[in-house]
Amino acid sequence: MQPKKRVFVGSIATETNTFSPLRTDLQDFKDSFYKDPGDHPQTPTLCSAVFPAAREVAAQHHWELIEGTACWAEPGGVVNQHTWEFLRDQLLEELQAAMPVDIVLLGLHGAMVAQECDDCEGELLEAVRNLTGFDTLIGVTFDPHSHLTEKRTGNADIITVFKEFPHTDFVETAVDLIRLIQATSKGEIAPCISTFDCKMIEVLPTSREPMRGFVDKIKSLEGKDNILSISVIHGFMAGDVAELGSRLIVITDNAHDAGNQLASELGMELFSFRGTTKPELLTSPIAIDRAMHAIDQQAIDQKAMSQNGSTAAPVVIADVWDNPGGGVAGDSTIILNDLIKRKITDTAFATIWDPIAVRTCFSAGIGAKLTLRFGGKMSNAGGEPIDAEVIVRNTVRDAVQNFCGSIVPIGDSAWIDIDGVSVILNSVRSQVFDPSVFSNMGINPIDKKLLVVKSTNHFYAAFSEISDTILYAAVDGPYPNDPTTTRYKKLTRAIWPRVEDPHDVSG
Ligand SMILES: [Zn+2]
Repeated sequence: MQPKKRVFVGSIATETNTFSPLRTDLQDFKDSFYKDPGDHPQTPTLCSAVFPAAREVAAQHHWELIEGTACWAEPGGVVNQHTWEFLRDQLLEELQAAMPVDIVLLGLHGAMVAQECDDCEGELLEAVRNLTGFDTLIGVTFDPHSHLTEKRTGNADIITVFKEFPHTDFVETAVDLIRLIQATSKGEIAPCISTFDCKMIEVLPTSREPMRGFVDKIKSLEGKDNILSISVIHGFMAGDVAELGSRLIVITDNAHDAGNQLASELGMELFSFRGTTKPELLTSPIAIDRAMHAIDQQAIDQKAMSQNGSTAAPVVIADVWDNPGGGVAGDSTIILNDLIKRKITDTAFATIWDPIAVRTCFSAGIGAKLTLRFGGKMSNAGGEPIDAEVIVRNTVRDAVQNFCGSIVPIGDSAWIDIDGVSVILNSVRSQVFDPSVFSNMGINPIDKKLLVVKSTNHFYAAFSEISDTILYAAVDGPYPNDPTTTRYKKLTRAIWPRVEDPHDVSG
């Protein structure tokens, strides 16, 4: 019997918005997700899904698994250099102690920027390669909202990337990586990475066309004609780095020219979608008007169908740019202020990040009535703080929400009521993924007429199960949402929409 293959697995992940007023340090990792070697839970998390996925197949593949640290910080501002160096060196020391290893599996995000390092994942992969040499296989998973650099493609043997946005396929992505790494280690395939620079930045939700069809197409190509894997790096417009932008990755079984050709064809197809991928984006007042109209219409329809007693599905408005998942604070009050002014009752709003206000609600206690100032603190673009008479309806220590089997903390949280508008205040930043953000606080989301959530698209999968009407409000704030006017310093390549025709396709 062959000796067991020694496999090291580790994960360091966050997404850095270099324009954010926030900063990120070790405490932010500890607040969101930080597990010492051997302590990773059985439940998968977004970027560390390689841990449970590797455990699942270790016996079957005859692997001896050596686990390193796994950590994730909610997207935020630039990472403190000491924090980055600590996390990087810790992982390298863990790997050094595990040597010799046959395989290294890393769950990374791919858009982490530290004070003195624009390409943290490239620096890490290069250091891992230097440590292991070229006989060790290195496999990595990335989030598509990342930057692809030569340091990454030059030092990894296999790269897989979440195909779906919302990222509902993070487990599948880890499983794909492990399947391809195992086949490589057995000598069944010789992976070869091709890439193509699409020279664009765009929001690319796969829950709608044309991206839905594109993802289905690339999935149908995998496994045929020496094509092992195809990934799309969407890019991350809030990270000012030289490599910002969308890229195609095609991994072939030793067919470099064919891989280059396919990456270029698919990359130009993606480029042709520019400007057509986003849902209709509304102002806050128009989103609320449309929601009210939809609610009235539902009431009329219900009356006509005499569905007495049954409640209509809630309408959902997404606050797409004040999304903590994009690295901003998530304390913009602009939409909430409009709801309060217009007395839109039977509404629930998740969430406003305000640890000080949460602390005050805990001190006041459940049932207390008080004047509270909350929200609008972290930037001059997210609206004014709200001063209101509130009732504290509930307080929950270490509150959480679900996301596709993973458990996402929102920290100590309070449910306050302002004349029929229920608001969740949280103390650990997180975008809204799932209606459990409401139900875990004691609010039944389907009893509400209107739900407002801070999220660009990750909320969609779970909220579309309870709502027929989903509206997107694009409210300007601290997030740099228009690449044509964003003051990039390090992005110097010509990319759409900063340049109309960067590929010179019109000749
Ligand atoms: Zn992402």
